[in-house]
Amino acid sequence: MSKEYAEKWLWIMRKCPKPRYFWYSRSWRIPEIATVLEQMAALKCCRAWYSLDSETGIPEKIPPGVKLAYLQVSEDTPPEMIDLMFRVRRLRKQPRPRIGLTILPVCPNEVNKEITCGGCQRCFS
Ligand code: SF4
Repeated sequence: MSKEYAEKWLWIMRKCPKPRYFWYSRSWRIPEIATVLEQMAALKCCRAWYSLDSETGIPEKIPPGVKLAYLQVSEDTPPEMIDLMFRVRRLRKQPRPRIGLTILPVCPNEVNKEITCGGCQRCFS
């Protein structure tokens, strides 16, 4: 994603606020793009997710409206503050990851294929 691309989406969201927009992005690590993502996240029509994994680290600040999603690709330990977690297929049969007593929130479709995005809506509601 470039800053210009993000700005075009921000423009669209402001011009057409009726649909609900949602996105996941790792570009929060690029300051000039993060500024635009923060403006999107502040819009009522937008559901904003910062994507994290073992390579990205953790954002220093979490702007209002932004949630954190973690992609686990190995045995790495996700940060406790995440709002949602996805696991690669080979990890999905393992018990749900926990930190201390906290069971981390995994995408329900990973646990039960009968739960669809339409029924869950966690990413965009
Ligand atoms: S909406 Fe629910 S089921 Fe669909 S990807 Fe998001 S968390 Fe998973």
